[in-house]
Amino acid sequence: MRHNRHSNFKKKKPQSKDSGKTVDDIVRELKKLSNSPSDYREKSLKIHGLICAKCGREFEYKDRHLLTIHHKDGNHKNNPTDGSNWENLCIYCHDDEHSRGLLGDYFGSED
Ligand SMILES: [Zn+2]
Ligand SMILES: [Zn+2]
Repeated sequence: MRHNRHSNFKKKKPQSKDSGKTVDDIVRELKKLSNSPSDYREKSLKIHGLICAKCGREFEYKDRHLLTIHHKDGNHKNNPTDGSNWENLCIYCHDDEHSRGLLGDYFGSED
C-alpha cells in the first residue's frame, strides 16, 4: 500500500543567513536557481508528447498532470535539454517503475 507517496513531499529546512524571509520565499528562490522540476517537466512533455512511454496511453492537455517525468538514468539532476534522459510516464507506470526499488523516494522530491 503505497498510496500516500505522491503527496508525501519533503521540505528541507533552509539554512538561511538572511532572516526576515519566510520559508516559502526561500524555497521559491531555491527553485528558481536550481533546475526546477516543473521546468523540465514542461520541456519533456513538449518533446515527447502527452503520451505514456510505457503503456502508450494518451492524455489531454488538461490531464497532463497525470504524466510524470521519469529519468532514465535515475538522476533527476541530469536534465539534458534534448530530452534524452526523460521519459513521460503516467503516474501508474511511473509508480510501477519505481516500485522495483530503484528510486523509492523520487516522488517525494517532485512537486
Ligand atoms: Zn502508463
Ligand atoms: Zn522515474
